[in-house]
Amino acid sequence: MPEVERHSYDVLVLGAGGAGLRAAIEARQHGMRVAIVCKSLFGKAHTVMAEGGCAAAMGNVNGNDTWQVHFCDTLRGGKFLNDWRMVELHVKEAPERVWELESWGALFDRTPDGRISQRNFGGHTYPRLAHVGDRTGLELIRTMQQRIVALQQQDHRAHGDHEANLKVFAECTVTDLLCAGDGRIAGAFGYWRDSGRFVLFEAPAVVLATGGIGKTFKVTSNSWEYTGDGHALALRAGARLINMEFVQFHPTGMVWPPSVKGILVTEGVRGDGGVLRNAAGRRFMFDYVPEVFKNQYADSEAEADAWFFAPDTHRRTPDLLPRDEVARAITAEVRAGRGSAHGGVFLDVSTRLSAQEIQSRLPSMYHQFKELADVDITTTPMEVGPTCHYVMGGVQVDPDTGAAIGVPGLFAAGEVAGGMHGSNRLGGNSLTDLLVFGRRAGQGAARYAELLGRRPAVDPGAVGAAAEAALAPFEQAGQDAYAVHTDLQQTMNDLVGIVRTQAEMRQAIDTLDRLRQRAAAVGVEGNRQYNPAWHLALDLRNMLPVAECVARAALQRQESRGGHTREDYPQMSAAWRRLLMVCTQETDGGIRLTEQVQEPMREDLMNLFEYTELEKYFTREELAGHHGGG
Ligand code: FAD
Repeated sequence: MPEVERHSYDVLVLGAGGAGLRAAIEARQHGMRVAIVCKSLFGKAHTVMAEGGCAAAMGNVNGNDTWQVHFCDTLRGGKFLNDWRMVELHVKEAPERVWELESWGALFDRTPDGRISQRNFGGHTYPRLAHVGDRTGLELIRTMQQRIVALQQQDHRAHGDHEANLKVFAECTVTDLLCAGDGRIAGAFGYWRDSGRFVLFEAPAVVLATGGIGKTFKVTSNSWEYTGDGHALALRAGARLINMEFVQFHPTGMVWPPSVKGILVTEGVRGDGGVLRNAAGRRFMFDYVPEVFKNQYADSEAEADAWFFAPDTHRRTPDLLPRDEVARAITAEVRAGRGSAHGGVFLDVSTRLSAQEIQSRLPSMYHQFKELADVDITTTPMEVGPTCHYVMGGVQVDPDTGAAIGVPGLFAAGEVAGGMHGSNRLGGNSLTDLLVFGRRAGQGAARYAELLGRRPAVDPGAVGAAAEAALAPFEQAGQDAYAVHTDLQQTMNDLVGIVRTQAEMRQAIDTLDRLRQRAAAVGVEGNRQYNPAWHLALDLRNMLPVAECVARAALQRQESRGGHTREDYPQMSAAWRRLLMVCTQETDGGIRLTEQVQEPMREDLMNLFEYTELEKYFTREELAGHHGGG
């Protein structure tokens, strides 16, 4: 077997985005020895790209905001499929997590009276997103890195070693989780991206914080790390993935020029007054307000514009409907021939804000369009269209501790975890999710490691098998990894995109099966030292089963809800709301799909909604005995 470098820790955190850093800080503060492993550079996680902000009902801009309103908005956004306990924890703990960041040095934008400013976002009743211009994720990561440095300085003072209790392994990719014979987590196996040398981490508790799956799709706002690694690692270790059919297509990605297609245009543009128009200049969103949202959204331009200046006395603009609604509306306009020359629609902020306001409130958007598309957004509308942005599905966890169901010692937080956002995530709810559940998973992992008697030992056979699997692409001359990846992305875009049918899902599953066989025969040339084709070959091992989970769950769910739209089942069905699609992986690599009935929501939380609203989502049987129910 090739040489393997070994390290031993109490808690291993995979991922250095918001969720990973928050989990690592928490576990370290509980006295654990913690390692953070990330395949990108430290500081370059996906979280850095987050623009709009972090949702927390602090009530700084509108005093009517409370955790209860945030709870209801999040459930409505997720079309009541969310894990209600996760939502409860999220909305109750969000303000504390934002204030904590501030106490660690985060510099949020301020209100005129000096409090943390909050902005409007789709689906949020009140201005709720704490932000730093349109670079909020960067500040979040900067602050937590600073916190990590502070903890390392404490360790230096106490032990003469900065890395005594918290060490970062950057540009190191984990390819397999290692379990003991009884199924408990014992560690993880990976390789250094530059040298290709193997590395083994022994740890009884592993927190997955590896983010999303966007690189399985062709048009995406996601960066290169998003190959569904954590989802696939969890599957292979015996965990369960839920809600994988729900993929969020953000309504506004750049559509032109082709080299930047998919790059995100933050919802903050609409939050700050930007409006959507079709090629004829018509504000088409008024035509797409669904029945369930009719009471909350304006039905005329006059009312929508009045809301911008007097939000307490008017209904909000439908430009700020939840993302699934806006993405579908844009797709429908383009399909009806009312789109822009490059297959999008227009997003105009130039007629709503002064050039100076645009440059100070949306500096990244201004530069992004100027430099990448030669468009000055202070004078010209942006051309935008849907882009694959976020996966609501992920590892099924215990809400309170982040423990992955079915694999003792495995924890998950952030985008890799499922449940919190139901069928559709509201903008701004991810950054909060990272803080709330990153902290909880760090705490859960620390307590688990602390209370463990004898630690599970890493099986040398499993290490050998992991090394063999990683080296397999060098042993065969065959398929080209890039060609397989391109075909995978095209398949997902064409067949498993915004609007789906049974025939397309079946075709996708067949195609994915053939791609899986091609991926197993991928061969790479050269050696292990920084070899991108080899890295991609290993990423394909993760992307393919994850893509299959999306297609299988999408085939099974015969209704339209949130991020899952079926042309052949266009209605939302209360009977399907109760059911979660659960994916597991068989020993031969095949994906198995089962259904699980959701736990009923607690009565006090149900009581936050009017009975007439609940009737739109729940079955009669579920509402029997509930207030107003018969
Ligand atoms: P990430 O931040 O992606 O971190 C994942 C980490 O895992 C990385 O360090 C990566 O290197 C590592 N990793 C992955 N695989 C491996 C492996 N095999 N081995 C080792 N390490 C691995 N949400 C909001 O709430 N508000 C916003 O304003 C907002 N804006 C956004 C703007 C853009 C352009 C995008 C793309 C997303 C935005 N989101 C926003 C969503 C949000 O940014 C993400 O959902 C969130 O940052 C995910 O954080 P995470 O900690 O789960 O993962």
